[in-house]
Amino acid sequence: MGVYTLFLLVSVLMTLLNIATDKGMLTMATYIFSWLCLLNLLLARYVPRYGIAVSSSLFMAEIVVLFTYFIISGNPDGFSVLWICMLPASGMLLFGRRRTTALCALMLLILLFFFRTGLGGSLLQYSYSETFRMRFPILFTSFYLLSLLLELISYVTRRELDKLREQRRYLYTHDYLTGALNRYGLSEWQKAAVPREGQTALMLDIDFFKQVNDSYGHAVGDEVLAAVSAEVREAVGTQVCRWGGEEFVVWYPEADCPPDMAERLRRTVEDMRIPVRAAAVPLRVTISVGQASGSAQEELGRLIDRADKCLYAAKEAGRNRVVRESDLFTVSEG
Ligand code: GH3
Ligand code: MG
Ligand code: MG
Repeated sequence: MGVYTLFLLVSVLMTLLNIATDKGMLTMATYIFSWLCLLNLLLARYVPRYGIAVSSSLFMAEIVVLFTYFIISGNPDGFSVLWICMLPASGMLLFGRRRTTALCALMLLILLFFFRTGLGGSLLQYSYSETFRMRFPILFTSFYLLSLLLELISYVTRRELDKLREQRRYLYTHDYLTGALNRYGLSEWQKAAVPREGQTALMLDIDFFKQVNDSYGHAVGDEVLAAVSAEVREAVGTQVCRWGGEEFVVWYPEADCPPDMAERLRRTVEDMRIPVRAAAVPLRVTISVGQASGSAQEELGRLIDRADKCLYAAKEAGRNRVVRESDLFTVSEG
């Protein structure tokens, strides 16, 4: 858009200058080009879907015609051909590397035809000096190469920036130790999700986790946390959030929580043998799970509160078990 605006402003300015200095055909050419620039700008700005593609194809054709006219007429004093030097940089901005390369190659061929062949030379209405006809194509090629280099630098920088954005996004939405979403990640997910009737939250808590820390140290506790989180994340088919400490929330906004998922998770963790450096035998832990489902409109925070109440009931009932809201004290024994 910026490049079209620039071309529009320059061509309007040149039209005014040409009128003031009475440049005849050249005035007509820049006048028509100004309208075409306005058309390109409006197409790119207001026509959805095809506007940008159509305007850029049109613009390429217009530029080839206008610049060819500039070469042939040379009006005024052989100057107008210098505008061709605008092509590489503006092309990179408008059309990208490949199409600009094709366009510049075409423009170079046209230049060489008029400046270096007898037939082309005979069509020229302005008598360019031999020095100019020899050197201008080299200058144009140099402009192209410089623009290509800048475009490549900008391409690499853009890619690097995208990667950094991606990394930054991962870092502020995920928990470093467990790789699960953190609370901010969950809230971002919540903003994007459209929950359905029957959305479900599971609240998981590792049983007697403090004892792991107390017996083997915090570092081993960390290893166990990471291992349990990895196993749970692998099993659930949706995203997992580390709610805090050794508690995790599994949310199914689409209401696609398999009926036996909580129980499957409980058993999966129970069956885990977690090898840790500090202990000769692999460690075993269990989890308690609270499960609640709600309407499409229910706030996730409220749903989690309800799952937490079920989790509390599971702990009260002896741990290593699942409690659903619907059957608060009907317990699946571990
Ligand atoms: P309960 O069965 O009632 O859940 O007992 P618990 O021991 O698991 O629960 P409690 O709330 O008493 O203790 C939780 C422990 O989790 C205490 C805390 O030191 C530990 N913890 C929380 N976050 C981390 C962590 O990032 N790394 C490690 N190693 N321990 C953690
Ligand atoms: Mg616990
Ligand atoms: Mg806890």
